[in-house]
Amino acid sequence: MDKVKCHAYRNTKLCTKDCLCLFVCPTGATNNETGQIDFSKCIGCGVCALSCPSRAITMIPNEMPKIQPKDKNVVDQLFINTNNKIKEIRILKYLLTKATNEEEKKLIKALLHSNRVIIEDLMREAEFMIPQSKKSYALLKLLSKDGQVKDKVNRLLDNIKFNIENKK
Ligand code: SF4
Ligand code: SF4
Repeated sequence: MDKVKCHAYRNTKLCTKDCLCLFVCPTGATNNETGQIDFSKCIGCGVCALSCPSRAITMIPNEMPKIQPKDKNVVDQLFINTNNKIKEIRILKYLLTKATNEEEKKLIKALLHSNRVIIEDLMREAEFMIPQSKKSYALLKLLSKDGQVKDKVNRLLDNIKFNIENKK
């Protein structure tokens, strides 16, 4: 298997500016006035990430790997689970309008939040939240017909590298 080509990314929030990465980089890519690593100079050797004491540098693949196909039965089941969670959310929202005290409201709000997180997980599992997937592309194409979100969705369509044949 070919070695995955990577480039270095610096998390400026973690960087303590001790400049070790500046000394070890063979191309000078880390020495950049913007605080970010110069992608055009980085050869992906990874030395900066290994030497950074603050773990502020991550090596990121230049191209995202293709997604493994998921069995249709698994995706169907994920949708069933998602729909059940959506039904639970409707019930919880109704209960919230009937709550008689703060404790009840707090509990219902916590359950609503947890259901939303579970739905996100389920959709991610079903490949709808992996930005470069074919399914996300189809979903965004559908959403691009909605006037309210059209501009934002079209920006995503222009900028994400989808894993679809004949498309970069
Ligand atoms: S080695 Fe790490 S902490 Fe030091 S300047 Fe570079 S990125 Fe920042
Ligand atoms: S990965 Fe190598 S070339 Fe790229 S910034 Fe780090 S040390 Fe420099």
